[in-house]
Amino acid sequence: MSYLSHLDCSYCSGRYDADQVIRLCPECGSPLLARYDLAAAAAGLDRDEVARRPAGLWRFREMLPVRDPRFIVTLGEGGKPILKLEHLGEQLGLKHLYLKDEGQNPTGSFKALGLSVAVSRAVELGVAEFVIPTAGNAGGALASYAARAGVPAHVYMPQDASLINILEVQMAGADLHLVNGLINDAGREAAAGAAQGGWFDVSTLKEPYRLEGKKIMGYEVAEAFGWELPDVIVYPTGGGTGLIGMWKAFAEMAALSWIGRHRPRMVAVQAEGCAPIVKAFHQGAETAEPWENAATLAGGLRVPEAVGSRLMLQALRESGGTAVALSDHQIREAQAILAASEGVFASLEGAATVGALAPLVEQGWLSAGERILIFNTGSGLKHRLMLT
Ligand SMILES: *Cc1c(COP(=O)(O)O)cnc(C)c1O
Ligand SMILES: [Zn+2]
Repeated sequence: MSYLSHLDCSYCSGRYDADQVIRLCPECGSPLLARYDLAAAAAGLDRDEVARRPAGLWRFREMLPVRDPRFIVTLGEGGKPILKLEHLGEQLGLKHLYLKDEGQNPTGSFKALGLSVAVSRAVELGVAEFVIPTAGNAGGALASYAARAGVPAHVYMPQDASLINILEVQMAGADLHLVNGLINDAGREAAAGAAQGGWFDVSTLKEPYRLEGKKIMGYEVAEAFGWELPDVIVYPTGGGTGLIGMWKAFAEMAALSWIGRHRPRMVAVQAEGCAPIVKAFHQGAETAEPWENAATLAGGLRVPEAVGSRLMLQALRESGGTAVALSDHQIREAQAILAASEGVFASLEGAATVGALAPLVEQGWLSAGERILIFNTGSGLKHRLMLT
C-alpha cells in the first residue's frame, strides 16, 4: 500500500532504512525526510481515483509511511474545508481570498494530522510508549491518538499552557508533566524521561513522520484548487512542519505529474515576541538563532528554537516568499475580525495569518487578483482559559 522507500538526511548525504525506529540523522543530527518510490507511484496512482476515495488524510495512504493498514490510528483527521472569505476579501481588496480551516480537525488543531501518522507508523515499527514536549496542542493530539492506539503517552507542557490543553491530556489518560519554562525546557525534560524510560520521543521534526501527516495539507490544497496551486500561502509558523511539509508535498506531486511547475509564494507569520524565522529570513541567514525571552499568547508560535529552521528558510526563499511578525494586540484584533466577518473563530496562531494580509497589501506584496490561501491551524475554542 505505501510507496515508502527510505529516509534521506535533510542536510548531509545520509540515507537510511525506513523500516527501523529512528529519529534524527545519526551522522549530523538533522531531520530525516521520508522518500517514496515516485516512479512506481507515478505509474500506479491516479490522482482522480484518489480524489474519489472517502475524504480525509488517509485517502493519500500510498504517499504515507504506514505499510499495513491495520496499524492506521484515525479519529477522522484531514479533509477539512477551504472557505472563500468574501467579506474579508472585499475589505482588503483581494478578490480570491481563501481559508483552509484545520481547526475542524480532531482535538481542535492540525496537530492531529502529524500525530495520526507518527503514532500509526511508530506502533507499526514496534514502539510501545510515547513522550512529547509541547506548547499544548501537540500534547492533546498525542494523548488522544495514543489512547486510541492503546499505548501509554507522557506529555511535557509549560505550566502556563491553556487549561483546555491540560484537560484534554488528562482526559485521554496520558501522564502529564507541567514544566516551569517554555517548550524547549519541556523538550529537555521529555528527552531525559525518554532516555530513562525507553519512551519514543515524537518532538517536532525529531522523528520523520509527523511531517508526513502535515504534508497532506499540501496534497489537499492541490486537489481543492483543481491541481493548480494558489499563488500565495500564508502560514503561522512555529516548529515549521506545515510549511516544510507542504513544500515537500509540492515536490512529490510534481514528480507524480499531478501538478505542473507553478508554486505558491510561501509566507511565514510569527509573533513579534518570538520571531526567530522572520528575523533570520530578513537577515539572509541560513539557520535561525535561538530567540531570547520568547513571549506570545499564541502558544503554537512560542517556539524559540526550531530544529527545522534551515528547511523553513529554504522553502520561503525557493518560493519567493516572505516572513511577517505581528504584535499580540494585532493578532487578537485579527481573531475578532475573522470571527465577526466570516464566522470562523480561529486560534490566535491562525488569526495571525489574517493580520498579516493588510501589511502585505499595503506593501504591494499581494495583489488584488491573486489566489491567496491562509491557514487556520486550530480552533479558537482551545484558548482563553489560562491557569495564570
Ligand atoms: C503547533 C501549532 C502551530 C505551529 O505549527 P508548525 O507547523 O509546527 O509551525 C500553529 N498553530 C497552532 C494552532 C499550533 O498548535
Ligand atoms: Zn545528516
